Amino acid sequence: MNSDAYFGFIQDSKSVIAKKSTDNKLNIVSKSELFSRLFSAGDRDYIVSVLQKSLENLHDNLMDFECKFSSKNGAKIYWAVDYDDVLNGLHTIISKRKVKTINYHSDYLYEEVGLEDFFKKEKLKYSDIADMQFIKADRLICDMGSILIFDKDMSVAERLNNGSINVFIVGIEQLISSMADAELYSMLMFSTAKKDYNSTIFYRPLVRDNDFLFIVDNGRSTMLSMQKQRIALTCLHCGECKKVCPVYNIVGDKPYNNVFTGPIANVILPFFETVESYKHVSYACLMCGNCEKVCTVSIPIKDLIIENRIYFRENKYVDSIDNKRYSTYKKNIVSRSKMNKSKLFRCAALKKFLGKSFCKKRKMPLLESIPFNKQYIKKNQNNVR
Ligand code: SF4
Repeated sequence: MNSDAYFGFIQDSKSVIAKKSTDNKLNIVSKSELFSRLFSAGDRDYIVSVLQKSLENLHDNLMDFECKFSSKNGAKIYWAVDYDDVLNGLHTIISKRKVKTINYHSDYLYEEVGLEDFFKKEKLKYSDIADMQFIKADRLICDMGSILIFDKDMSVAERLNNGSINVFIVGIEQLISSMADAELYSMLMFSTAKKDYNSTIFYRPLVRDNDFLFIVDNGRSTMLSMQKQRIALTCLHCGECKKVCPVYNIVGDKPYNNVFTGPIANVILPFFETVESYKHVSYACLMCGNCEKVCTVSIPIKDLIIENRIYFRENKYVDSIDNKRYSTYKKNIVSRSKMNKSKLFRCAALKKFLGKSFCKKRKMPLLESIPFNKQYIKKNQNNVR
């Protein structure tokens, strides 16, 4: 949007804010209250569509959120293109406010940004009551300009008002359009097995300048611009897909060398990091489809992995030797006469496909003497008789 349109947009938003002056600073809804109010509307498919809808209008919603969140109360938003932007912004706050102690609980986003190493570099000490505290924000609520926080034991509610500098870090995708949608989303989170929350806080800073919100892009906007892959940004990082992935259950977290692991990492990592360094994870999949059967928000993970492979090929991230190898492989497997050739022929063709380096490191897989197709026909003939 151009600057005139943006100015008009801010004016409109200000009048909306003025009308919504009843918005409370801290509005706590208990888990049981939420369930009794929303149980009849608790349809998972609907909540999934709410998350997808938030992504569709993400750009406008983020601007709307910014006006409502920061224009009235002085809370500062940092737009971070990558990890370095977050760390530079934090460094500025730490220096200006002479921060010596910090308080935080681990979170995948903090790991993604590399906060632990940063704290060591800045020589900050951990303390229960600290100069600066990191509060885990779950979503930004666009129409209220508030932050949605899940609280396990009411400790967050106390911490928010203890006078420390509050820092929130979220990805750009962690935005939800309205308060009503946020309540439905809370239901979904309460119902996922891994999450153990007791209450929901809708937090909006008022007039003090102790609140800093970092909104991180780090490759997410690239995914957002991709019509098919963008749905992966609705992931809740619940970890359900990992439990059923046959590859992840053998290799575990280590080969990823990243905070994101498992089936959804195979989709998002090439974009959150770089395609060159992480495209290989999109090939570490057997296409069994177990992950998408259990996904809490019905992400078609297997299809997205295929989409990634197409994207890499179309954008020339796959080298020409691999490209040639795969087109030869395709030609062979769609030819029945070639697939039914002798064991010797099939072994030689497979060895050529896998390449010399594979056969040096691992033994050649053993092939059956009678091709699968002939075995299948014979078995069915026996069954008919
Ligand atoms: S099951 Fe779905 S929502 Fe949960 S981590 Fe996997 S992809 Fe994300």
